[in-house]
Amino acid sequence: MAGENLSSTLAGVRAIYQELAQRPVQRNCIARTECCQFQLTGLTPHLTKGEALLAAKAFRATGRKELPEADDGICPMLQRQTGRCMIYADRPFACRTHFCEAAGGPYARKEVVDLIRRLEDLDARLRGDGPRKIAAAVADALDELR
Ligand code: SF4
Repeated sequence: MAGENLSSTLAGVRAIYQELAQRPVQRNCIARTECCQFQLTGLTPHLTKGEALLAAKAFRATGRKELPEADDGICPMLQRQTGRCMIYADRPFACRTHFCEAAGGPYARKEVVDLIRRLEDLDARLRGDGPRKIAAAVADALDELR
């Protein structure tokens, strides 16, 4: 993807995340990271292509090039030693809105459906395949950024 297109894509995704943060919905993520352990929750975040590109860019900014190979039901963006998300500032929409009870529970779809549609529209413009599981989506985005 050309640099200018990539920059505007990343800016567009960040703008959606910013709008979400400004919604008057009480949520308080305290980074417990239980929701990052998919084998515990049985739920895996799915990312549209713009989100995956932003997550991949943030992951590369940590100095890493490849996702960890381990298929242990833990998010590849969760640093095992520290228990922290390596891309927290650019974490995907689902990580901000879905199932964490400690943060206040999932958003109602009607509270965020306009933002979901914008992510889906961006996915279509980028010729994405719709929301995909985080590991596969970010691995492909890392390839695309090479
Ligand atoms: S991207 Fe970050 S916040 Fe989202 S599941 Fe992975 S480690 Fe957790």
